[in-house]
Amino acid sequence: MSNLWTRSTDDLQQLEQSLQARYEAYQSRRLRLDMSRGKPCPEQLDLSMGMLDVLRPDEALRAADGTDLRNYGGLDGIPEAKALFASFLGVQTGEILIGGNSSLNMMHDTISRAMLHGVAGGEVPWSKLPSVKFLCPSPGYDRHFAICELFGIEMIVIDMRQDGPDLDRVEELVRGDESIKGIWCVPKYSNPDGITYSDEVVDRLARMVTKASDFRIFWDDAYTVHHLSDTPDRLKPILEACRAAGHPDRPFIFSSTSKISFPGAGVAVMAASEHNLSFIRKQLSVQTIGPDKINQMRHVRFFGSADGIRAHMEKHAAIIKPKFEAVLDILESELGGLGIASWNKPNGGYFISLNTPDGCAKEVVRLAAEAGVTLTGAGATYPYGLDPRDRNIRIAPTLPPLEELRTAIGVLALCVQLASVRERLGRSK
Ligand code: PMP
Repeated sequence: MSNLWTRSTDDLQQLEQSLQARYEAYQSRRLRLDMSRGKPCPEQLDLSMGMLDVLRPDEALRAADGTDLRNYGGLDGIPEAKALFASFLGVQTGEILIGGNSSLNMMHDTISRAMLHGVAGGEVPWSKLPSVKFLCPSPGYDRHFAICELFGIEMIVIDMRQDGPDLDRVEELVRGDESIKGIWCVPKYSNPDGITYSDEVVDRLARMVTKASDFRIFWDDAYTVHHLSDTPDRLKPILEACRAAGHPDRPFIFSSTSKISFPGAGVAVMAASEHNLSFIRKQLSVQTIGPDKINQMRHVRFFGSADGIRAHMEKHAAIIKPKFEAVLDILESELGGLGIASWNKPNGGYFISLNTPDGCAKEVVRLAAEAGVTLTGAGATYPYGLDPRDRNIRIAPTLPPLEELRTAIGVLALCVQLASVRERLGRSK
């Protein structure tokens, strides 16, 4: 198809009419398709059902250190779970803390503790300062931004490049502003761009000079084993890089098995320097007597090892790869060559990030909704829900069955064309 921007007004008017007819045909089908969140599909959840009977009622439910899994205790995790998840994240067992069922919960609590009590080695609780700012590489994960909003932390948008956040800008900002206390990072198969940070980006984050001595990197490694390719991306370990750069306390790493076993019933983990963790453990011991050790043991038994987790993730990939391929095929056949949209082809993770012409994303999401397809709200991938170019749409291909997904992406591609043609005609008026 030819580039839309080079067509005459007459041509575009005709095209609008034919697109409108196709759009109305979709509307008459009264579709109800939800593509708004990156959830696993039932077939993916079925992969972990074996976990429900790896523990038997007639066995002694004890951890390696003798802890009775059925009772209180084990504040930061049973030894077996620490060993499994330390190996999974490539850290030492002394550098890991096993949490409850949600890493987002751990991120929220980490910010909350920093606001109320400061961080290890930091002198002032962040909430006592006149202002606290966070750097937010964007597009990014909406729930990170929601945490900042809740705590009144000012967010500064940082552009994403092909190999991670724009580090020139990051370095310049953190060098000069003491109120910048942290940065959100989804360093592998980022949400939503599918970008993995290069070694250089990791090293620069580890080395950079920050005016705030208590600056922290919130390293949300949610998609660390979520590969979609036989040649997976590799991420340089941040804890080691920060230690080597003389900033051992800089990173807080988070991850979970939410999209490995069961979202909402998985195991969440946090990794950081021993100094950071001992500071956190003291406060955690007031907050809880301990997390769910039975679920930790279920995960240990079911997966066995980090290799067991990797093998399990290959089964996930076999289910969701055809869905990613279907989305990419439809985008290419409907939008390729038109000059109105660009998208990423991720090597892993849960999303495809689609950019429409500037000023069109909200309209595309509205049109799709009126044709029965719910997408993630336009702007959701930016702080305060404000995409400065109103162009980014996050596509979450995993949940719908393949046929529904094809229909939904067909509707989406049509809406991108319709909104773009109207935008073009509007401008030429
Ligand atoms: N971080 C990122 C980047 C995510 O996309 C998600 C959603 N799956 C989460 C964290 C939430 O993880 P959890 O279920 O462990 O709270």
